[in-house]
Amino acid sequence: MLGRFRRQAQEMLCYAKASATYTERKLSLGRRRWLKAMEEQKKGGISVETEHIFPVIKKWLYSEKEIFLRELVSNACDAVTKLKRLASLGQYEEDGLPYKVTVSFNKTEKTLTVSDNGIGMTAEEIERYLCRMAISGALEFIQRYEGENTEGSGQGIIGHFGLGFYSAFMVADTVEVLTTSYTGGTTRWICEDSGSYEMKNEDGGRPRGSSVILHINSEGEEYLSEAKLRGVLDRYCAFMPIEIYLEDEEKEDEGKEEKAAAPINDTNPLWLRRPSECKDEEYNEFYRKVFNDYREPLFHLHINADYPLNFKGILYFPKIREQYESMEGKVKLYYNQVFVADNIKEVIPEYLLLLRGVLDCPELPLNVSRSYLQNNTYVTRVSAHIVKKVADKLNSMVANEREQYEKIWNDLRTFVEYGCICDRKFYDRVIGAVLLPLTDGTTVTLDEYLESAKETHEGVVYYATDADLQSQYISMYENEGRKVVMLPSMLDVRFAESVEQNREKTRFVRVDAEIDALKGEGEGEADEALTALFASFADEGKLKVEIHRLKNESVPAILNVSEESRRMQEMMKMYAPDAPVMPADETLILNDACPLIKRLAAGDFGDKNERIARQVYRLAQISARTLTAEEMKTFLADSYALLTEY
Ligand code: ADP
Repeated sequence: MLGRFRRQAQEMLCYAKASATYTERKLSLGRRRWLKAMEEQKKGGISVETEHIFPVIKKWLYSEKEIFLRELVSNACDAVTKLKRLASLGQYEEDGLPYKVTVSFNKTEKTLTVSDNGIGMTAEEIERYLCRMAISGALEFIQRYEGENTEGSGQGIIGHFGLGFYSAFMVADTVEVLTTSYTGGTTRWICEDSGSYEMKNEDGGRPRGSSVILHINSEGEEYLSEAKLRGVLDRYCAFMPIEIYLEDEEKEDEGKEEKAAAPINDTNPLWLRRPSECKDEEYNEFYRKVFNDYREPLFHLHINADYPLNFKGILYFPKIREQYESMEGKVKLYYNQVFVADNIKEVIPEYLLLLRGVLDCPELPLNVSRSYLQNNTYVTRVSAHIVKKVADKLNSMVANEREQYEKIWNDLRTFVEYGCICDRKFYDRVIGAVLLPLTDGTTVTLDEYLESAKETHEGVVYYATDADLQSQYISMYENEGRKVVMLPSMLDVRFAESVEQNREKTRFVRVDAEIDALKGEGEGEADEALTALFASFADEGKLKVEIHRLKNESVPAILNVSEESRRMQEMMKMYAPDAPVMPADETLILNDACPLIKRLAAGDFGDKNERIARQVYRLAQISARTLTAEEMKTFLADSYALLTEY
């Protein structure tokens, strides 16, 4: 029944191509001629041609066998909905019996039955809907898609071309329909997977509605199990609009009534209700049930878009602590309460798939190939609407519930930063809601930071990536009254890069990459001998050494690594971990305001001058980065040697 799904089903057309003889014959026949042949056929076989349809259906949908159940159950729900509509129009008088759909199975008999007490069918309707319409839909599909690119959708095609009913033949070799129309008259129709059928009138006395009885074949035996059926029903039918019951016919006597008391589905899912009528607890419970997550989500967003967009949904922000690679969100797409698929990237931007939620889009286009979805304006607008709603929510929280927002920011940060990196539009909408945690434990927005930096370091955001390793630098900045932002993960730094790209004249500078903020009064005095002494410690005397006067007199030397070269190095590490490590662009800054450096310059330590200078260099390295094995070895050996001399 469902016509609006998307799924990769390349095998489908591959198969159509492989069976060239079949398609050629089908195409040459033409739909009109085929229908005419159908008219002439009274009984005994749907059509000489249709015998080929079943194997095609089986093959197309082989990998998704279970959707036959979704198709039959949604047909059953449709049949009930139609009857309810007639009742509301006054064309049918309700008998007070509760409307329902029952899925029952009998392992011994190898039958699976989907029953409803809906509108039913007359013999003539069976002819029209099951013998003609559904089959002609199948042929129409083959005619239309033959020769096209193989990217299509098995699921979509089933619904669109009225193939839903026939998907039953994926698991059955005979399908029987016993149906009583609401207008009266009972008919039994039995169809074999060869395409031949038989139809007869039955005696009355049966209540209205249809039972579709599947005589399960060897490929479908797994569906004769309660656990299996419950799993499939939970997946596809959990929110269908008519109550659905699952029954094991062989357990009929043992407490069947008790079981029957609980439908497997929720006919009025939360997303269809008005947000003002839903309580927080209900949102949380819905989340727990649908996503099997015992933790509470951070918050939710109930989208209820009417004209012209017409879609509804609830998005949840789960707690996210790990890196984005390892996270698994889930956004379930529904079509009028019928589950279609998880995580459809064409409908919801990829970064929002880190969220969890449900979206019900009753206006998804009928033709649902992937490229079509990508270029479809409805889909684009649904997607843009979701992005806007998410951004609005974040902005309203940062403006109105700052304290609460700060508490959950750590869990939101990954998702928001990732979204900003992926999508410029999202960035523009939410940048005001991004919080930057400072080394003192408070947080600021980017605007707040830049505003406070205006006087001293306009357009520059100082940051640290490791509070312990960079503690010396951090405290030097803090002593200067300059705020330092913590960007501990690679994602944070990537986010900082996108800020630099998107916002002119804004730079992120790590605390060990510049000394502008640390300089004191006056310039450092050039001292060639001292510079040469330190330069000789690095490989081939290549170390860059500069002498400056820093404000903090207690620090003899610091190591600067230029922002650019460090970022490049980090990128190489990530994308080409086996490539030889590029030497970083390091500069050793000697602080001539520090008494120790003054004494080294004056040669105060005599024959130990060089060894002490080397220790100063190593200590500067240690406070900036991890030493290499070789550096560590010489540092320890030198330290022990110095100590043993006293
Ligand atoms: P679709 O539902 O997409 O039109 P199907 O092959 O699933 O295609 O069904 C063909 C038609 O058969 C339906 O449109 C409906 O008119 C009729 N039908 C199928 N199942 C039932 C049922 N349980 N009760 C009444 N009519 C049904």
